[in-house]
Amino acid sequence: MTKKVLMKLNRVTRTYVMGEVTVEALKETSLELYEGELMVILGPSGSGKSTLLNIMGGMDLASGGQVYFGQEDLTRAGDKQLTRYRRYELGFVFQFYNLIPDLTARENVELSANLVANPLPVEEVLRDVGLGSRSDHFPSQLSGGEQQRVAIARAAVKNPRLLLCDEPTGALDHQTGRLILALLAKINRERGSTVVIVTHNTPISAMAHRVVRMSSGAVVDISENRFPLPPERIEW
Ligand code: ADP
Ligand code: MG
Repeated sequence: MTKKVLMKLNRVTRTYVMGEVTVEALKETSLELYEGELMVILGPSGSGKSTLLNIMGGMDLASGGQVYFGQEDLTRAGDKQLTRYRRYELGFVFQFYNLIPDLTARENVELSANLVANPLPVEEVLRDVGLGSRSDHFPSQLSGGEQQRVAIARAAVKNPRLLLCDEPTGALDHQTGRLILALLAKINRERGSTVVIVTHNTPISAMAHRVVRMSSGAVVDISENRFPLPPERIEW
């Protein structure tokens, strides 16, 4: 099977200059992301995972190197092109949900659906994430797990080519975390979205097609899982 490359990073770096000190948050990183794969990026806190994910999502700019989405060079893109990329191609799930507090769960998802030309049906996505009866609640009335479901529904309703998730289980208990991971695996399997999950939790890597390990701002290993585990069977 030939794998189609969805995103390609070529010697990407990110440095922060703070007075006299330069932090190399991301050392030269080259990486290909294949269409339809589920990738887990694993590494301890501070290893550069969020930096890498934010660059992939066009939320942050690389200090060096190139990032290609298909044929598009995001490192040469202007604001308009980056906004277009984030709006039409990308779903992003934040560790702390970042929902709009004054909108109900359904309205948060509807707002996102309205950004794209061909969203999935809002009701169907709310049902898929198991929110049905809580859809008219505001974020403050929902548990962490429920808020994360809304955040996933908001990203998934766009039916994005690429779904990036930063520590999506980081703030949840294990059981809720597994349900959230199962949801992400389902979106990958049934919708064909390419999914990237960032985590510091080693066992979660068992669900990936490929695992990228990071340490001190560098990718230190990329390995393939021939038999990914269903998230329901992962313990941590
Ligand atoms: P992870 O997500 O793996 O915990 P990050 O990508 O957030 O790691 O951070 C990688 C490194 O870059 C850390 O040393 C962090 O302190 C540093 N860093 C991240 N963001 C900034 C910033 N805005 N300014 C300065 N240093 C930063
Ligand atoms: Mg992080």
